Amino acid sequence: MAEIVKGKGVIAGIAIGKIMLAGQNLDGYLMAYQPDGDLDAEKKKATDALDKVAEILQSNIEKLQADGGAEQAAIMEAHRMMVQDPMLAENINTQLDELHNAPKAVLAAAEDQAKQFEAMDNEYFAARAVDLRDVGKRIAKYLLGVKEPEIGDGAVILCGQEIEPSVIAGLPSDKIAGVILGAGSTTAHAVIIAKARAIPTVVGVGSAIEKIADGDAVILDGEKGDIVIRPSDEDRAGYAERIKKQAELKAYYEELAKLPTVTQDGVKVQLMANIGSPDDVDNANKYGAEGVGLFRSEFVFMGKQDIPTEDEQFKAYKEAVEKCNGNLCVIRTMDIGGDKPLPYLQIPPEENPFLGFRAVRISLKRHELFMPQLKAILRAGVFGKAAIMVPMVINVAEILAVKKLVEEAKVELAHEGKAYSDNVQIGIMVETPAAAVMTPVLAKYVDFFSIGTNDLVQYTLAVDRGNANISYLYNHFNPAVLRLIQLTIKSARENGIWAGMCGEMASDPYAAVILMAMGINELSMSAPSIPRVKEKLRAITSKRAEEILEVIMGLEDGDDVKAQLNKLI
Ligand code: PEP
Ligand code: MG
Repeated sequence: MAEIVKGKGVIAGIAIGKIMLAGQNLDGYLMAYQPDGDLDAEKKKATDALDKVAEILQSNIEKLQADGGAEQAAIMEAHRMMVQDPMLAENINTQLDELHNAPKAVLAAAEDQAKQFEAMDNEYFAARAVDLRDVGKRIAKYLLGVKEPEIGDGAVILCGQEIEPSVIAGLPSDKIAGVILGAGSTTAHAVIIAKARAIPTVVGVGSAIEKIADGDAVILDGEKGDIVIRPSDEDRAGYAERIKKQAELKAYYEELAKLPTVTQDGVKVQLMANIGSPDDVDNANKYGAEGVGLFRSEFVFMGKQDIPTEDEQFKAYKEAVEKCNGNLCVIRTMDIGGDKPLPYLQIPPEENPFLGFRAVRISLKRHELFMPQLKAILRAGVFGKAAIMVPMVINVAEILAVKKLVEEAKVELAHEGKAYSDNVQIGIMVETPAAAVMTPVLAKYVDFFSIGTNDLVQYTLAVDRGNANISYLYNHFNPAVLRLIQLTIKSARENGIWAGMCGEMASDPYAAVILMAMGINELSMSAPSIPRVKEKLRAITSKRAEEILEVIMGLEDGDDVKAQLNKLI
């Protein structure tokens, strides 16, 4: 009899395959390990292992970058930094004084630091604790001579209480049919990678995960969160229909990708893609994206030893612009800081990095960083349609300062005899309440607004976007947020500029309907979300959407808005 284990479905899709347990048990290897009798020699072994693992990671990072795996490269870079963190080395030495065993000392030191992260009671840091244990295990494996898991011919379903991001990142996409995690974080790096690759994933299985053994055949439902262990032929037949539907849906979405995004009565909304690297544009085009609404350029800066040069950046932006085939490519200037630190910038630690020295604030203080980026974007503009988008703006002065630097960048390029475009639009992210409230004024200085709801929701509601304990308060339908969004779109229209959205809210089909009714011109989202949004917009009239908008803007509570939208659409 098949047994069903339940978790939380976070990435939809049905996967059928054999389980490969991830996260190897090192106990046997540790027992067999013979430490050097001389403590200094054992310490040297640990130091050498740190250097060697950092070197291996660096080579992986370069391979991933060359293959367009910018997000994975960024995660590997975070791991490389953890390996080279002097704190870890010091901690290992302290542990060695007591344990006299290099791999055990490495594991103990990593565990110690991971526990400190977990004690911070913050989902973001809790997720980083997994990375630290991953790093510890990687170094220990190197010391123990353990090989990384090999993968056979067929695709497998990876299963583990916590799966090290490096395991998923290190395996080819077509070899992973699904992912099962005992732990429950949706912001874990393992989940971020699975999402980018659209791998059906179930998290939060808890201790029931022990029922799943290596090599077990399972059916995984990434939508409902069901895991059917050792399914009978009948179980398989039951899912065959859904798998067939999944394939039909895929074919339907491919057809839908060719159709325009227009309502029944002819209102057009441009659906664009959020990307982290030029390679992502290929995938975006498959889903019918009409250009790029957000190129998170910080991914070009992450996974590097040093600041990328103007030419390196130019190459990445040019490739993305060209792949947009005449559609707009909105390149956001680096959004460093907050949850995206860059160690080589050597910015001192802050009490409150989300309210600290970040994004445009860094750009305007560190011209040696910002000017090459502006010049690279202006040069890329020659090869298609590019736009510069500035993150975290709170006032007019910041826009004026950026525009002045853009003009200076043009003068420098002209002096250097480099071709650049004079038609690069300059817009801002509206992701702070200050910017949203001031949009009637800011609209006079820019070519477009793009609403960044991920931050706008967190700053408006004072609700940390990564804190699971208060996630019930994090709602893009909160009336305070809706009013700021409506004001932003109205300000844009009254001033003859376009308004878009590139936060996660843009990928919510229900939100898309009311945003269209508010008059939004563009929605930018992860490419796989495009078909569902397009489908909703094509099925409705703008008149009906306006009626719905009127109802929901009269509601007093965000949860009521959600419920009403479900009922009305
Ligand atoms: C946002 O804040 O909505 C956004 C798109 O930017 P990020 O998620 O990169 O902060
Ligand atoms: Mg943001």
